[in-house]
Amino acid sequence: MDLLLKGGRVYRSGSFENEDVVISDGVVIDVDKFPSSGHSSVVVDCSNKIIVPGLADVHVHFREPGFSYKETIYTGTMAAARGGYTAVCTMPNLDPAPVDKTTLDAQLDLIKSDGRVKVYPFGAITSDQSGRGRLSAMEEMAPYVAGFSDDGKGVQDEALMEEAMLKAKSLGKVISAHCEDESLLDGGYIHKGEYALKNGHRGICSESEWKQVERDIQLARKTGCAYHVCHVSTGESVELIRAAKKDGVDITCETAPHYLILCDEDLQEDGRFKMNPPLRSREDRQALIEGIQDGTVDMIATDHAPHSAAEKAGGLSGSAFGVVGLETAFPMLYRYLVAEEVISPEKLIELMAVRPRQRFGIRGSEIGAGVSADLAVFDINSRQTVRPSEFCTKGRSTPFEGMESQGKCVLTISEGNIVWNTLSF
Ligand SMILES: [Zn+2]
Repeated sequence: MDLLLKGGRVYRSGSFENEDVVISDGVVIDVDKFPSSGHSSVVVDCSNKIIVPGLADVHVHFREPGFSYKETIYTGTMAAARGGYTAVCTMPNLDPAPVDKTTLDAQLDLIKSDGRVKVYPFGAITSDQSGRGRLSAMEEMAPYVAGFSDDGKGVQDEALMEEAMLKAKSLGKVISAHCEDESLLDGGYIHKGEYALKNGHRGICSESEWKQVERDIQLARKTGCAYHVCHVSTGESVELIRAAKKDGVDITCETAPHYLILCDEDLQEDGRFKMNPPLRSREDRQALIEGIQDGTVDMIATDHAPHSAAEKAGGLSGSAFGVVGLETAFPMLYRYLVAEEVISPEKLIELMAVRPRQRFGIRGSEIGAGVSADLAVFDINSRQTVRPSEFCTKGRSTPFEGMESQGKCVLTISEGNIVWNTLSF
């Protein structure tokens, strides 16, 4: 089926233009080359809509193999499609964890059979994904992975991290680091700030994050490794990364929608407000916003981390860490950052589609002629309330539940296939 996406505003090279997009046999073709008569094509009315490169999320947890009661490759990629994503990178805290080619294959087989959008797994950094001990079989996994990460844990041993960076550099891969110094944790589970103090909760200090960012920057400088910081949540981390970039260190970072929209003043006694790193202070949130405005923060990833209802029913102290995010990221960021004029819509696409693809070598950062169609269409005027019961993900826990959002994904095309569609054509 040939599609003519008509009347939309198309994101191209950093700006929106009024243009039609023609997709023939799953491939974007030049409008000029499209036969105007004697050709059957389906016209899709995209007026008042934007057409953007498929969003790319470099930090998701799809739980398979090992924890399919929380999420599967199928439900995770359906959630991605519904959110406008056509590429995701999965974290390796699985069972078995991808630590060599054999264990990675278990995940790659599932991705091949069940994935609805492109899935690029991370391989583990350490041999048991614990952040300690010895390195995984990075070399044999390298051709098949987005990069290497021990997400869920920080690599505690400095010499081991240096070794990992040297290896990643030799393989041309990015190290994507969950930065957390375990010696500073002290049993905390929400931000060590006013809310924790007032309500008798154990806090996670900001230092546990930025101390390890600081250490890793020195190692990245020394080794020349392409280094990426996961889910930055503190103002101190933003400042360290800003300075490192000025210094020429090959460093990028992501933050997540909840750190940009909420802070610890929004906490409620409910597991849906619990994730790691935690919601930080109002000042931290402001520092992150300034970080995205000046380019210090390169991209927004969701850290989509579904759990069962029972696992999230233990309040702030007893619930598992992690919230879902793929289906709310764009509409929440559009509502609270773009509609509030904190950033432009072009900037949002750069943060959610362009920069993640560029950094992790995922093609499709431009809607270009001759390549398979990877794009999403959003109705940016549509306002709706976040209702977890409508989610495709198995996870239901989100701090955005009940909040108003703006911008709804109406069509997602991944590698030429329609994977999400609410339009009638
Ligand atoms: Zn993490």
